[in-house]
Amino acid sequence: MNKRESRLIVVSAPSGVGKSTVCGRLRALHDDVAVSISYTTRDLRGGERDGVHYHFVDDARFDAMIASNSFLEWAPVHARRYGTGRQDCESLLAEGKDVLFDIDVQGGAQIKAQREDAMLVFLVPPTVSEWVRRLRDRGTDAEDVIALRLRNAIAEMEQGKTYEYLLINDDLAAVVRELDELRQAEQPRKRKTSGSMKHLEELLAKARLELT
Ligand code: 5GP
Repeated sequence: MNKRESRLIVVSAPSGVGKSTVCGRLRALHDDVAVSISYTTRDLRGGERDGVHYHFVDDARFDAMIASNSFLEWAPVHARRYGTGRQDCESLLAEGKDVLFDIDVQGGAQIKAQREDAMLVFLVPPTVSEWVRRLRDRGTDAEDVIALRLRNAIAEMEQGKTYEYLLINDDLAAVVRELDELRQAEQPRKRKTSGSMKHLEELLAKARLELT
């Protein structure tokens, strides 16, 4: 049987919605799934390892990578820079893997502009209170960083409306299954479910009231 072309699947969500967990879980289930490891200029957090969670680089190295066109996409996020290595991505696709990109909406748009076949998936938190609780529970960020992330997250959720697929992340196993179904579909459905869109609209209205 001919294997279908490898897929590029962008998974975006505001901080604290669990996209790294969802991507990691899907990769753990399938040998033919890889998660792209980004480059970042932000500091390493407790529990993270260089080359596993990110390639941690300084500003000079990041500048050099921009100059040599080494990024498939890059963007400033939360006052730091993050980028996807072009060669890293090509290598994974050449190995026949479907590649998940845990990146922000700016990066998602850049990948879609270059690869029309890339799938854009946005994870929506179940409720505003649950999402803020998850963000605080991580305990890895100072309060001012959390505040910046919350402000950015509202703008980010607004961008989520432009994505092709919206998945509500209220049950980890269920959302991993839904993402896997999209990944494996011969012809993924080309629409957002209206329930998810309504959920996102309501959540945004509540988030604006509570967080601004
Ligand atoms: P964190 O610092 O919490 O690991 O990530 C912050 C944000 O940067 C998240 O929304 C994450 O998805 C995004 N991000 C991580 N890597 C990349 C990347 O390579 N490109 C872009 N555009 N965003 C990224």
